[in-house]
Amino acid sequence: MTQAQDRSMQSSDDADLARLLRRARRRGLFESLSRVYAEFPETTCENCARCCFESPGIFFVEHLRLIDLLAAMPRHRRGTLFDRALGELFFSWIEPERQCIFLESSRCTVYQDRPLACRLFGLAPPEDRDLAEAQARLAARQEAHHLRLLGIEIPGAVLQRSLVSCDRVRDGQGRPARVDGDAIAARIAHLDAVLLPQEVVVREFCFRSLPERLGAAALGTETIDGMRVQLLRRAQRGEATGDLLQLVRRQARLPAVLSKKQKRR
Ligand code: SF4
Ligand code: SF4
Repeated sequence: MTQAQDRSMQSSDDADLARLLRRARRRGLFESLSRVYAEFPETTCENCARCCFESPGIFFVEHLRLIDLLAAMPRHRRGTLFDRALGELFFSWIEPERQCIFLESSRCTVYQDRPLACRLFGLAPPEDRDLAEAQARLAARQEAHHLRLLGIEIPGAVLQRSLVSCDRVRDGQGRPARVDGDAIAARIAHLDAVLLPQEVVVREFCFRSLPERLGAAALGTETIDGMRVQLLRRAQRGEATGDLLQLVRRQARLPAVLSKKQKRR
């Protein structure tokens, strides 16, 4: 795909994003999402923020809700978060110290609006958690193999980082808290189905994070994939990456709904 084609697809994505955001507001989907979130039990934990080691995968309606939130932020704040998103997008596979773009001083800055994945963390029964860890381990091994073929070695600390689980979440009686994550996820997928064709809902599910979704909208996935390999190779050879990052920033364009201050409804 040429850069012009990539740009023109981006414009239609922009229009789609604005249209879907309007539809989500009109259909009250953010309120529906809040009602699902409100059913979670009150819990406590040690607030160590280890589970915020990366931006979580989100449903499409959660993506729109976060876009709505970002749109109401001051421009410089949006810029900061977007820079963090680019950093995560390009360097998370080689930098063990990366963390979710919304985490600051070990606190979640979007706590009231945090997505399902964050709310579910530590609430799955041990057998589900074991399965999720096995899947994460397999996905990490596959990515490591893929990148190794491109000459990029993922550090062991990065592979371990993605295997975090937690048994320190407690309900009001001090017992391990449990919820039926699959049932809740199905309800949120149902909200996605109001916005997207069913096959897209199934394909997308909650597999992509905000940085991945924003990056795809701002740069196009092909540009990201190409840039990521160049940046990772350079970084692993200890070479400067500043010029390439400048190029990425120049090419990146925030979705139109984020390019000026908007009112949240
Ligand atoms: S859920 Fe667990 S890992 Fe996450 S902040 Fe609480 S204690 Fe830490
Ligand atoms: S959205 Fe908040 S709770 Fe979720 S990973 Fe990011 S900082 Fe942590």
